[in-house]
Amino acid sequence: MHAVSLFPFLLNRMEKPVNCRYFYGDYFRGKNKEECRLLAANPQNTRRWKRALCDTCPVPELLIASDCRELALEATVMRRFLRDQVEVTFAVCTKHMLELEDPLHCPKCGEEKNVE
Ligand SMILES: [Zn+2]
Repeated sequence: MHAVSLFPFLLNRMEKPVNCRYFYGDYFRGKNKEECRLLAANPQNTRRWKRALCDTCPVPELLIASDCRELALEATVMRRFLRDQVEVTFAVCTKHMLELEDPLHCPKCGEEKNVE
């Protein structure tokens, strides 16, 4: 009947993919597999990822704001103030093989930017 008009309704009910390089979503043919590849890559993370964690996760903004060009992160789910929250536990610039104290800033990438 009015199959087309049902589309927006169905789309709204689906979770929206997260704009993050570590988010993986597979919705092909009714599959609904979602995963955080950042947390999946950390065997020390004990708390399971769920989609709601992305809403408060600092990583997507970090990736945009950091001056590091080849930022590699490790993250874990921490319990803070009675709720789970993704926290970055380790940040490395893979271009300079440098562990970053502040994932927002690689001193060497910063230097190169100033020279250009
Ligand atoms: Zn760097």
